[in-house]
Amino acid sequence: MSNNLVTVIYLFSGALFILSLGGLSQQETARRGNLFGLVGMGLALGAAVLSGQVTGLAALGVAAVPAVAIGGVLAARVEMTSMPQLVAVLHSFVGAAAVFVGLASYLHPHAGLSGAERLVHDVEIYVGVGVGAVTFTGSIVAFLKLQGTLSGAPLLLPGRHALNLALLAVTVWLGARFVGAGSVDEGQQWLVAATAVTGGLGVHLVMAIGGADMPVVVSMLNSYSGWAAAAAGFMLGNDLLIITGALVGSSGAILSHIMCKGMNRSLANVILGGFGTPAKGAAAAVTGTHQELAVAEATTTLRGAQSVVIVPGYGMAVAHAQHTLSEIVKLLRERGATVRFAIHPVAGRLPGHMNVLLAEAKVPYDIVKEMDEINEDLERTDVVLVIGANDIVNPSAIDDPHSAIAGMPVLEVWKAKKVIVMKRSMGSGYAGVDNPLFVKPNAWMLFGDAKKVADQVLTGLRS
Ligand code: NDP
Repeated sequence: MSNNLVTVIYLFSGALFILSLGGLSQQETARRGNLFGLVGMGLALGAAVLSGQVTGLAALGVAAVPAVAIGGVLAARVEMTSMPQLVAVLHSFVGAAAVFVGLASYLHPHAGLSGAERLVHDVEIYVGVGVGAVTFTGSIVAFLKLQGTLSGAPLLLPGRHALNLALLAVTVWLGARFVGAGSVDEGQQWLVAATAVTGGLGVHLVMAIGGADMPVVVSMLNSYSGWAAAAAGFMLGNDLLIITGALVGSSGAILSHIMCKGMNRSLANVILGGFGTPAKGAAAAVTGTHQELAVAEATTTLRGAQSVVIVPGYGMAVAHAQHTLSEIVKLLRERGATVRFAIHPVAGRLPGHMNVLLAEAKVPYDIVKEMDEINEDLERTDVVLVIGANDIVNPSAIDDPHSAIAGMPVLEVWKAKKVIVMKRSMGSGYAGVDNPLFVKPNAWMLFGDAKKVADQVLTGLRS
């Protein structure tokens, strides 16, 4: 295949990736966006293989065929609630790939490069390996934290900022030695040392982030993996990899910004601030007793409400209650009630987690509202049904400056006339913070597994 044709296909794939991102930004067009991405990637892979750039097709087949099979099976089987872990592992692969591409590009004879060209190539390799190593180790730590293998609590070493700065300074120094190396053997040693140092930096950066702040880490590592891919594109002289990496890197950065806004943090605070650090001083203890409600009473309350807002959270996802909930909403709307969903930006365990589940359960898009769109309406709402959510409706984020989630905007559900909280116990959510909502005078606990209880409510509404 001629080089010109390959370039045209790469450009076409790049355009498809942009259309894909555009499509994925709205639920109505998400399927189409996904299809654009698939076609773009298929064309890009085909062109790369047929262009002759890929030698050793047999070796590629031996690696790619089982990898595609394993990846396909794992992705098909993964629970929605474990998606962040899967995403973190996939980011770690991009990081590892950038490190290997960097090492291989360096060990490959410098194809006649000399002077400034050689310097630029070496800098590309060094940056690619460094960003790749941070992404790789950071993503592995994020995976272990999300999986619960490592504690979610932030590791706050004394002098951690000084340690980060020192690691950065050593990385720059090693970089200077690397580009000035007299031989490939010497350069290789500096490069391996830099891989170890930047790998350590990745571990330390993510270990220092904890609790409720993991969403930003996931989107930040997403961005890093894009830049690592772009760096690999520079090393390999592959324009499409550069375009794709830049798209992933910048969209990940935009997502991080949106998540930070949702949690009222700045990105600098995330990366350097010991993000997730419990505030100084003791958080206020939750005092008071909660009130319980039986399924029959909850059903009657919902039946009598003119306006209902439903706040779904992680518990709805684990219980797979979205389909039953969709049926409940249909019934209530048929009876003339105004029913809407309120979605917090960090609800669940993945950006957009709730939107995906509600779309899967065929909830109409126009009644699914973002937090900013609906928060002010809550005080005019008859009943708020909180289903498997906790941190995102915790008033201590607003009322208690010592709370670990102080400052995070939350859905102010306690302003509604009545709140029904459907969960299994009085236990806390992901951030491990007690929730004073449960003892508010207008809040009633409806204990049980979200799916089972929602099924009972649905039966009650139908009878
Ligand atoms: P939370 O983790 O705060 O609360 C979920 C609640 O669901 C728990 O308190 C639990 O209570 C309840 N629950 C669990 N299983 C069931 C079940 N089967 N039936 C009924 N209830 C159940 O979730 P939120 O969605 O409110 O908040 C998200 C949290 O996760 C935030 O702290 C956010 O920062 C964090 N996070 C978000 C990510 C994202 O990208 N969205 C990524 C990583 C973390 P009980 O045990 O009593 O039933």
